[in-house]
This record gives sequence, structure tokens and C-alpha cells, in this order.
Amino acid sequence: MAKPPTEARRRGPAAVRSLPFQPALLRPLPHTVAPFPNETLDSYRHRLAVANQFPDFRNVRTPSRWLVCPLDELERLEVLSGQPRESLLWAIPELRHYAPSIAPPLEYRTNVTRRACDWCGWRAGSAGLPIYVNVRGLHDNVCIRHRRWLSGGKTNPYEQIDVSPAPEIVRAQILLDRLERRLGIGFFAPRYRLCEQIWSEIDRRGLIRAERDATLQHIYRADLDKLPDRFGPVQRFQRAARYPQVARFTQFILAMSQQPKTERAISHLTGVIQLDFERAFPMDRRPRGITIPWLRKLLVQLVEAVTTDPLHPRSREIDRLWLSHST
Ligand SMILES: [Zn+2]
Repeated sequence: MAKPPTEARRRGPAAVRSLPFQPALLRPLPHTVAPFPNETLDSYRHRLAVANQFPDFRNVRTPSRWLVCPLDELERLEVLSGQPRESLLWAIPELRHYAPSIAPPLEYRTNVTRRACDWCGWRAGSAGLPIYVNVRGLHDNVCIRHRRWLSGGKTNPYEQIDVSPAPEIVRAQILLDRLERRLGIGFFAPRYRLCEQIWSEIDRRGLIRAERDATLQHIYRADLDKLPDRFGPVQRFQRAARYPQVARFTQFILAMSQQPKTERAISHLTGVIQLDFERAFPMDRRPRGITIPWLRKLLVQLVEAVTTDPLHPRSREIDRLWLSHST
């Protein structure tokens, strides 16, 4: 009686693992591509395939269905691209776990990708192909050399904004980079993220808008023929225009959090933190009602969260505070 076909039989020939020699399946591609700093693995593979006029990288990476290639991803790319192992490892963070002794894995990962600055891409020889990179943290938004805002938004996320009319945005990036270098990315990035969240909440209430609006006028020209679109591309410009304030706010909160514990407690109790904040960020108008006590409590909690650990569940109290005031 014939046996029913097994799963492997239906799928095709079984992979051969018992050959007496190691088959060399890959050979260098005719055209190589230099990897871009922080590039994603997918982006690099795609560019390598396009440079060699392959429609799909998968066929290049796995040329045989039945001969098992013993090389790992890093070794395959090394053979195919002809690039040195070190430059692949330093440029593409996703490969680093294959050889942590050469390039240590990243200390902080965001899983956020965006397009690299197009002009930097051209300089690095992208020939117009988009290059996608992993961002270092949410504070990594501007190409300082070309003065371009790179982060995406709701509409056309690949359009990059020229911020040369607003040099304060570039200075904000320089300030944040300096803070990152001084404090270390693992310490700085989650704290910046928290500060940016809180600042957008303060901004939403329209208390401190004059500076942001002045910057926005330099980089965004509204189309007068169209009705204003609250959810349109203007949001990206608003985020860029808010950036200098967010940078200074982060610096302010970090400076507050570095005070000794007793001094912090005194400034929280006496409301000095609120006064210092108002001096650094003058309000457009004097708010009424419960806004000032809310702001004071928010600042105190933010400083404490930044001092201890921004990822700790206690920081969620800040979320509750927003909600209680919003509803
Ligand atoms: Zn650039």
C-alpha cells in the first residue's frame, strides 16, 4: 500500500545538510553599495538589489531552495556586497548581535525609522534612492549640516522641511545632541521623550504660544486658497516650530532634577519651580482657574519622574493627572 505523501514531500525536495563539503552558494555582486550610518537592514538590502538590477533581494540572499547556506546574515552580506565586516557592523545596528565584540549592540532602541536626509543620501552615493535609518531617539529630528527637518507626520511623511529660515530649530538639535553626549543615550532618550509629551500637553492649552507661532511663520506658508486643515501637513510644521521650546524645557527639567533631594523638596513645597518655569517660559496670558495648580503639580511630578526613572510605573501618575484635568 502506498504511503501518504509527507509534509516535506508535498513542499518539494528536502534541504541537504549532510554534504561532505560546504557548498559556496554566494559570490560578490558586480556593484556594491556603501552602507549609510544607522541604516535599516531592509533599506540596505533593497539598495544593494536595485544597484544590481535585481527585482527582489530574496533571490540573491537564498539562491538555492535545497542547498543550505551555512552563512549567517552578516556573512552573507559581507560576501554579496564586498564591504568590510566592520563598516557593515558599525553602520547597520540590526547586524550587531552577530559580532558584539566588534560593534556593541545599541544601548537604546526606538524601533522608529525614517528617511535619512536626502542631501546627505546624495553625498553618500544613494543616486536618488531613499535610505531608511533607525532614529537614535525621539530627539533625533534635524540634519544640522543641511538644516532640514526630517521627521515624519500625518501627510506626506517623506517630505523634508527646509528650516534654514528658522536657525533656532537647528540650534535646538545641537543643544539636544550635546545633552545626549553628556548624559548618555540610555539615560537621556527616555527622559526627553517624557518631557516632549508634557510639553505638547502644555502647548495644547495655548499658554505659551508666542515663540512657537513666530517660528512657525518662518517655515510654513499657509495656502490661502484652501480652508485651514487641522489634521493636514501643518501638524508637522507645528512640531518643528515647537522643537526649540521642547529642547529648552528638557534642559530646564534636567537641571531641576539634578538638584539635591532636600533642595528639590523645598522648591516643590514653596512653588519655586513654578516661578522658575514662568521666568524661563513667559506666558502669553495669565491663566485662570485651576490651571496654575495643575501646572505646578505637573512640573513637580515630571521632575520627580525624571530624577528616578521615567519608565517606572509611577510615571503613569502623570498620565492620570492629565486625564483628570482634561475631562
Ligand atoms: Zn543632510
